[in-house]
Amino acid sequence: MIHLEFNNESENEGIARVVTAAYMMRFDPTMEEMADVKTAVSEAVTNCIVHAYEHGEGKIFLDISHKDQCMTITVEDFGIGISDVEKAMEPMYTTKAEEERTGMGFSFMEAFMDKVEVISETGRGTKVIMSRTIGGKEALYG
Ligand code: ATP
Ligand code: MG
Repeated sequence: MIHLEFNNESENEGIARVVTAAYMMRFDPTMEEMADVKTAVSEAVTNCIVHAYEHGEGKIFLDISHKDQCMTITVEDFGIGISDVEKAMEPMYTTKAEEERTGMGFSFMEAFMDKVEVISETGRGTKVIMSRTIGGKEALYG
């Protein structure tokens, strides 16, 4: 497993993606699996950067672990939190429509991962726990 801690600079979203890709190499993933998981991580980390810390600096944790072929990825912030998680996860729900956000981040995470769980508390932060089983090229090509 790995634990990565970084601040909410937008450049760090790319680093989170690269670290995720590097971790996934052990599964010999297909291009699609790689793209899917990287996109999900990107959406979760971008949410921390864009929404969690509106005024100033804040920390973001990225934890990746696996059991056999199942990866679990946790993205956590300690920012403003989400008051209504169910609503926030609805497709096209956004609190930043004026900034050209489409409100599809959580929908992408759910589409690209097997399971997505969001735990959040107002004023304390948000934790997104996602998992996906990676079949890898062997599962695809035998
Ligand atoms: P998009 O991801 O398409 O750019 P978006 O970020 O608004 O738009 P989602 O990622 O689906 O859409 O998130 C929906 C809403 O949930 C956000 O508009 C925001 O209000 C809230 N939200 C998501 N992540 C966080 C977070 N880490 N901290 C605080 N609020 C969040
Ligand atoms: Mg988003």
